[in-house]
Amino acid sequence: MPKLKLITYGCQANELDSERIAGLLAQEGYELIEREEEADLILLNTCAIREKAEQKVYSRLGTFQLLKRRKKGLRIGICGCVAQQEGQALLNRFPYLDFVVGPGQLTSIPKLLDTPAKRGIATARAPGFSYPSIAPVQRRSGIKAWVSIMEGCDRFCTFCVVPFTRGRERSRPSQDIIEEIRNLERQGYREVTLLGQTVNSYGKKLRPPTSFVELLRKIDHIVDGAVRVRFTSPHPANVTEELAEAIAGLPSLCEHIHLPVQSGSDEILRRMKRGYGRDEYLEKVALLRAKAPGLAISTDIIVGFPGETEEDFQDTLGLMRTVGYDGAFMFKYSPRPHTPALEMSAQVPEEIKGRRLEQALALLNQLSLERNRAYLGRTVEVLVDREDAKGDHARLAGRTRQNKIVHFFGGGVVDGDLVSVEICGASPLHLQGELVSSQASARRGKGFDNPAAPIYDSPNRRGEG
Ligand code: SF4
Repeated sequence: MPKLKLITYGCQANELDSERIAGLLAQEGYELIEREEEADLILLNTCAIREKAEQKVYSRLGTFQLLKRRKKGLRIGICGCVAQQEGQALLNRFPYLDFVVGPGQLTSIPKLLDTPAKRGIATARAPGFSYPSIAPVQRRSGIKAWVSIMEGCDRFCTFCVVPFTRGRERSRPSQDIIEEIRNLERQGYREVTLLGQTVNSYGKKLRPPTSFVELLRKIDHIVDGAVRVRFTSPHPANVTEELAEAIAGLPSLCEHIHLPVQSGSDEILRRMKRGYGRDEYLEKVALLRAKAPGLAISTDIIVGFPGETEEDFQDTLGLMRTVGYDGAFMFKYSPRPHTPALEMSAQVPEEIKGRRLEQALALLNQLSLERNRAYLGRTVEVLVDREDAKGDHARLAGRTRQNKIVHFFGGGVVDGDLVSVEICGASPLHLQGELVSSQASARRGKGFDNPAAPIYDSPNRRGEG
């Protein structure tokens, strides 16, 4: 049986693509393994969103050159966004690379493997790209599943490569999504996360059009409370009252939203071409919190975007305080090929970016700790999943509906159980608790474990930092 070593970089869409590659190659007889020294095929599924992620791929690829010399017949391929972005240039730069496959062409991999004598390339040429064929998925988890509902993006934020690497926005027919989720429920999955680059613009181009909220209602109807539903990532401009009501009212839908803001400065948001201003973003947050009090909110923030002044950065810190984020992914701006921001004037020096990132991370720690302390003494529903324990086998772990990681002790509990845990400790990244019952309420009501919402200031307040 040929052996496959699969290395994944980047976002959840890439995680799912790797599960598709594993499923596709399992049909060809490949077995997934851990040790690259034993592999007959090494695939790097890559991310191009930041320069650092891309550099990591190149340095890892460099380490395989020796392996390839030692092991006759070893084949090496690059998949994903770097493959789409760089194409033939990768084959030119790395003579020991066998093939390059874009994220929309994964089903070409078996064909490329059939021609061992030739180096191959399969990347999308047309700007729109078609919806990638859904290969059979070999999921890593038996509890939680990613489900792709749309691909690509039409927004062209000035820092982002996604429209170039994953193409324009296109949605998967709702019947296919429903069928996949029905099957996952039958197989015993307890949580699905709907994936898309701007997931809440789902369905605009379908005929007949189907809105994201209609899709959520259909899913809620079929899973009937037996499966938790999450989605990521929504675009703030597409957050509607209807969506806020769905989060508040649909029993399956978890009370967490990851709502990327990127900056708290109107001028920087304009330069980023994000399609909303600071006040509009804060109004969306206010709408969500008004409909679904206790909703956990996380975000993405870029510091040091070209032209970002100290005042702009202070606006970002101020917005973070106003929202009171539960969590955030924060990065220094990274110049990317094809993007307008690359050519923008007033690039921010690295040391300033670094200092701002440190300040933003320190504030995030403080805010998320405050949010987590609000859970002390409360009993929360936890979906047990030891993966969240990150190697600490002495403890059990899982996530609340608000996506908080909870570590706890308790017997007679297995992965996939929904349990009740009383929270007795909080840190910025985790909660600690004690098992109250190895059964959570059979059908969760909204507000089961919602702490009070943080005090929400006027959307017009700014520059608090
Ligand atoms: S909306 Fe998101 S995926 Fe689309 S271009 Fe902007 S940052 Fe990239």
